[in-house]
Amino acid sequence: MKEITHKEFEQEVLNGGKVVVDFYSTECPPCEALAPKFENLDKLYGKDVKFVKIFRQENRDLAESLDIHGSPTVIFYENGRLVGDRLTGGIKRSELIKNLNALLPEERVKEITTKIKPKVSEYDVVILGGGPAGLTAGLYLCQARVKAALIDVQLPGGQISSTHKISNYPGFVEPQPGYMLAHFMSEQTKICGTKYKVAVDVAKVDLKNKYVVIDEYETIHAKKIILATGASPRYLNVPGERELKGNGISYCATCDAKYFVERDVIVVGGGNTAIEEADFIAKFARKVTIIHQFDKLQANKQAQEKAFANPKIEFVFDTEPRRFEKNGNKIFVDTENIKTGEKGQLVADGVFIFVGMKPNTELFEGDLETDQWGYIKTNEDMLTNLDGVYAVGDIRSKKYRQITTAVADGTIAAISVTRELDTY
Ligand SMILES: Cc1cc2nc3c(=O)[nH]c(=O)nc-3n(C[C@H](O)[C@H](O)[C@H](O)COP(=O)(O)OP(=O)(O)OC[C@H]3O[C@@H](n4cnc5c(N)ncnc54)[C@H](O)[C@@H]3O)c2cc1C
Repeated sequence: MKEITHKEFEQEVLNGGKVVVDFYSTECPPCEALAPKFENLDKLYGKDVKFVKIFRQENRDLAESLDIHGSPTVIFYENGRLVGDRLTGGIKRSELIKNLNALLPEERVKEITTKIKPKVSEYDVVILGGGPAGLTAGLYLCQARVKAALIDVQLPGGQISSTHKISNYPGFVEPQPGYMLAHFMSEQTKICGTKYKVAVDVAKVDLKNKYVVIDEYETIHAKKIILATGASPRYLNVPGERELKGNGISYCATCDAKYFVERDVIVVGGGNTAIEEADFIAKFARKVTIIHQFDKLQANKQAQEKAFANPKIEFVFDTEPRRFEKNGNKIFVDTENIKTGEKGQLVADGVFIFVGMKPNTELFEGDLETDQWGYIKTNEDMLTNLDGVYAVGDIRSKKYRQITTAVADGTIAAISVTRELDTY
C-alpha cells in the first residue's frame, strides 16, 4: 500500500494499471473502520491492484477536483479512467471486493478467493448492534475488563445517528443533534477498549453455539452474546410505498427534510416521532399535512401543543393512505376515511412515514421467545430464554422505547454478564 500526495497522483494513479484510492481523514470514525479492511484486501489483491491512500485534508484541491467532499471516499481506476462505484461513509468489505473483482478476469478472482483464510477470534462477550443499548453494554464491559467485541452492520450510533435533535437525554442542557450524541457514546466505548467490527456484513448468528460470522470469513466466538440490534421503521405496506422509497417517500426527516424547502409535504402517523419530526420538517416545507388514522394524536401533550400552534401544519384525522403514485415530481396519495369510508386524494412533493417500528430479529428468529409483536422476551437481568444470550434496547419486549431505557438495559445486561463471567 502506498501513501501519496497530489503531486504523485498522475504518476501513481492516472498513469495506467488498476488502482484503488482511499481518500481518508484523521479523527474520522468511518475512516478508522475502513483502514483494517483496506489493509487486509491489499494483502489479497495487492499483486493485481495498486492500493493507494491519500490524506484528504492535506490534498484538498485534488479531492475537490475529483468531486470528493467526504471521508472516507474510495474510488477505482483502470488505465487512468474512473471505473466502478464511488464508495463513501461506512464502507463494507463486500462493497470493496465487488469493485476489486470487477477489475479482474474471472479466473484470477477465483484464485484470489481460494486464498481467503477463515479467521476465528475469541471474546468473552459479543455485542450485536451498536446503538445506545449496545454501546452502553460495551462501555460497562470494557470498564470491568471484560473482553468484548461490538459488531454493527452500519457505523455505530443506531437510530439516534439520524435523529434531528435529542432534548430528553439527561446531562445535556441544550438539545443535542442526534449524530453528536451517537458520536460521544461511540467514542467513549471505543476509547475504553471494546473492539469494534463495524460496517460489516453479518452472515450468520448461532446463538446456541455462541458465534457470529462476519464478512463471510471471520468467526467471532464468545461465552455470552448481547443482542442489541434495535428496531427499524415499519412500512404501511400499501401499493406504491416500496417502489417510491427513496424517490419521494422517506422514513428519516433528518436525512431528507432539507430537500423539501418551500414544498408541500405529507407526514403519516400521530405518535411522538411523527409529530416531532413533522415540526422539524415544517422548518423547511411550505406546508405539512399530517394524516393520522385516529381522531386524536398519540404524541405527548408538549409535542401536540407545538404542532397545533404551528401555522404550517395541518391535520387530516381518521384517515389512512391506501396507495401512493408518482407523477412528475408530485406524489399522489389515495386516502380513505376509516370512519365514513369516504375516498380522497392528497398531493404533495414528498411523504414521510412514521408509523412505528419493528424489531431487527431476522437473523436469529426461531430460537428466541418473543411477544406477539416479535420483540424478544427477557427477565429483569436482560437474559432471554437461551442460556448466555441477552437482549437489550428497542429489540426487547417492553413498554417504553427511549434512549434512556436502551442505555439502562445495556447497563443491566453488562453488569449481569460480568457477574456471571466472574463466577465461571
Ligand atoms: C426519528 C426518531 C426520533 C427519536 N427521538 C428520540 C428522542 O428524542 N429521545 C429518545 O429517548 N428516543 C428517541 N428515539 C428512540 C431511540 O432512538 C431508540 O429508543 C434507541 O435508539 C434504541 O437504541 P437501541 O440501541 O436499542 O437500538 P438502535 O438505536 O436501533 O440501534 C441498533 C443498532 O443495531 C444495528 N443492527 C441492526 N441489525 C443488525 C445486525 N443484524 N447485526 C449487527 N447490527 C445490527 C443497527 O445498525 C444499529 O446501529 C427516536 C427514534 C426515532 C426513529
